[in-house]
Amino acid sequence: MSVIESKLNYANPESMLNTGLTDKEAKHKLQTHGPNILAERKKISPLKILFEQFTDLMVIILMVSTVISGFMGEMTEAITIIAIVVINAIMGFVQEFKTEKTMEALKSLAAPNAKVIRNEQLVSIPAEEIVPGDILVIEAGDRIAADAAVLESSGLQVDESLLTGESVPVEKSPLKSSKAIVDPYDKKSSVYMGTVITGGRGKAIVYATGMKTEMGHIADMIQNIEDEETPLQKRLAHLGRFIAVGCLLICAIVSVTGVIRGEKLFNMLLSGISLAVAAVPEGLPAIVTISLALGVQRMLKRNALIRKLPAVETLGCASIICSDKTGTLTENKMTVRKIYAAGYQLSVTGNGYNVEGSFLVDNRASDPLKVDGIKLALEIGAFCNNSVITRPASESSAIGRIKSIFSKQETLKISGDPTEIALTIAAAKAGITQSDLNGTYQRIDELPFDSDRKCMSIVCKNDKGEIYVFTKGAPDMIIDKCSRIMSARGIIKLDELTKRSITKINDGMATDALRVIGLAYRKLETGNYSSRTKNVESDLIFVGLMGLIDPPRKEAVEAVQKCRFAGIKPVMITGDHKLTATAIARELNIFCDGDNVLTGAEMDKMSEAQLEAIAPSVSVYARVSPKHKLQIVKVLKRLGHIVAMTGDGVNDAPAVKEADIGVSMGITGTDVTKEASSMVLLDDNFATIVAAVEEGRVIYNNIRKFIRYMLACNLGEVLTMFLGMLMWLPIPLLPIQILWVNLVTDGLPAIALGLDPAENDIMMRKPRGSKDTIFSHGLLRLIVSRGIFIGLSTLGVFVSILYFVNNVELARTGAFMTLVMTQLIHVFECKSETRNIFEIPLTNNIPLILAVLCSLAMILGVVYIPVFQVIFETVPLGLNEWLLILGFSLLGPVLSSLLGKGRRRQ
Ligand code: ATP
Repeated sequence: MSVIESKLNYANPESMLNTGLTDKEAKHKLQTHGPNILAERKKISPLKILFEQFTDLMVIILMVSTVISGFMGEMTEAITIIAIVVINAIMGFVQEFKTEKTMEALKSLAAPNAKVIRNEQLVSIPAEEIVPGDILVIEAGDRIAADAAVLESSGLQVDESLLTGESVPVEKSPLKSSKAIVDPYDKKSSVYMGTVITGGRGKAIVYATGMKTEMGHIADMIQNIEDEETPLQKRLAHLGRFIAVGCLLICAIVSVTGVIRGEKLFNMLLSGISLAVAAVPEGLPAIVTISLALGVQRMLKRNALIRKLPAVETLGCASIICSDKTGTLTENKMTVRKIYAAGYQLSVTGNGYNVEGSFLVDNRASDPLKVDGIKLALEIGAFCNNSVITRPASESSAIGRIKSIFSKQETLKISGDPTEIALTIAAAKAGITQSDLNGTYQRIDELPFDSDRKCMSIVCKNDKGEIYVFTKGAPDMIIDKCSRIMSARGIIKLDELTKRSITKINDGMATDALRVIGLAYRKLETGNYSSRTKNVESDLIFVGLMGLIDPPRKEAVEAVQKCRFAGIKPVMITGDHKLTATAIARELNIFCDGDNVLTGAEMDKMSEAQLEAIAPSVSVYARVSPKHKLQIVKVLKRLGHIVAMTGDGVNDAPAVKEADIGVSMGITGTDVTKEASSMVLLDDNFATIVAAVEEGRVIYNNIRKFIRYMLACNLGEVLTMFLGMLMWLPIPLLPIQILWVNLVTDGLPAIALGLDPAENDIMMRKPRGSKDTIFSHGLLRLIVSRGIFIGLSTLGVFVSILYFVNNVELARTGAFMTLVMTQLIHVFECKSETRNIFEIPLTNNIPLILAVLCSLAMILGVVYIPVFQVIFETVPLGLNEWLLILGFSLLGPVLSSLLGKGRRRQ
């Protein structure tokens, strides 16, 4: 049986716990076992995309009638029309194929990573590179990358509902060490691909990957970007149908009128259908999709990974960005600056992760190890800690091993939670190392940190068999768990007065923008411990406080400013202390005078109505738990805001999911939160959210630009023919000419408009209303008025040449050229809705200029190259006609800029 075969026979899996596989072994195994992926979803084949280009009803009718007209003698025309249709289809194919490829590339980027031990180092690798024998390092929030046997665990709980349907998390315990064989049927010790760790942490050895896993039996399980259509795409599809019906009606009228006037039935049919093919903006959905996809790529370059396409649109409407503090608004590079223990207040010098630094009392250097309370505080900080500090491989020589790992010249490899790293470094400055502590105490259990409890404990045993609990966490939580204090006079009762003075010292540190950690311990009286021993985090002895600096990110200050100009309110949401949060929010300009700060405890006492009343003035939410985050999102949404909310921990997922734009952290975020989010910040940076909002606005604006362009142009084409018929004129344009105009103007220039760079004032405007349609704010008026103008200009040239020269072919060529020129000029006008063509920077979009030049060449070729003159029934234009064409083509832009000026002056 395959599962049995896939079990691994390791003589001693535990021996691999800290070493893991080497790269060479992993590479070899990857070759034998294949990548750790489930069977891929079917991709759309390029052939299918190409075929779909010809399935449009209008295109089919056009092709059939062209073939018939070919048999009736118009062979050259028929071949040209078919050629145009094929070129059109190829352009459509290229657009859609590129879109499909871009989306695929983005999906592979969203593929999950996993933490493993390789070459004795903790590394994060793409989950598909996991091989049997890899040691997975797992913790709350992780989605497990392969089937594995647990070798080490503390409080490890897994949600296996995906496999079992059972929503209660299952506890996992390590494989009995006596067992040499990893047994996949030992469910208590197995974790399975795709399931989620809901609590605790651990290490597990992989025994099955890819299709050999339990999950391998379940199809389409891969968590990917969803192929959701955006609301705009849905609305446009609807609009497309509406426009199509309108166009068909007009085309029918044009054909019937022509026939009534005595034109040949078949010719008029062809004209009507060509007009329909030209006028129906069938390329619109593809261009919308490609500009969304290209925008998503641009966002990626700015470190924002979009997981759900609709978020791109919503970003432009964001009116509030709720952001975590630590790591997103701050650098998350912490350093212990102040220590309070045994009645002493010490300052700690040194920067970042450098172990050089000293301890000062009243500005004088002092040895922290001389005072028991201070030494113990540093020890608890370093030992109740999961950060890992190692020498780089190159320095692991024999001599290097003898030297202390904290020798001052060494560059250290550091991994783990920055708060914990800072505590380890502070202890190292005093000469206390984790390896020394490991010699004294043996860790027997851990109660991991979580953002609800806001503290962490470890249980450990010394050589005398005594069992201790070491706890660190938010001071308010720690003080509540303490009954005694380690003072300069020894261990005494912790009375209310002392509690108040500790709180005062804590507040003092917090006001200086320090993140404060409280430290405590106790000896377990019983002398034995099992994971069922209750309330170890109670009756503790308070030891001290440590204040950590975490400077605000420089780019966050600028990003906050940008938000304010853009009418977006930045809000800080943090688990940290109210005073720390306020101090940092003030530095970042998130908190201004008159704003309110609300804590989780205060929120708990408020009714929903009270919360709704105060929320508009709150810029900082402090000491909140994930459940408060959800409450905040709901309240803000009820108040009509479009809310972006960040999150990292597993418990943040509901709030992130509920937000209009759920944002997760790429570096520190858990898989669960990433999956719930619509956007991942690859650099965990607040400024990236603002950059994404900016891109979101640019994308939406560009979509408006080419919708404006395409619809105005198509309306112009329809009106030329329609009005021409109503005015009882000869047909202004032949079917083949209409199709050529459509090919020349609709394709490249429209796509190039989608690449237009951001307008200068894009982040100076208020957010778009979420109920606004794509045509809001006067776009429909612009489209209709310009459509009418294009039609009238074309007819103006047609009628003038007819009147003065009385040559239908010349008049048609003039109209043909005018229709193209008006559109190629209009494409530049579409770059801005507020400025006229003389104020718009025309040269900042090179693809657009190239597209226009290309279109010009195509139209001039048809008018001046003799072979094409025969096919397209054109004649060369003289100077007089050109003056007429340019005059009529420029009339629209000149008039609208004059009218625009007049309007703006009012
Ligand atoms: P955010 O990232 O949402 O801005 P935060 O990271 O500051 O918030 P939490 O991680 O929930 O918030 O931390 C809340 C409090 O818990 C901190 O103020 C600190 O006192 C304490 N704390 C943080 N990390 C640890 C840890 N690893 N061990 C023990 N206590 C911690």
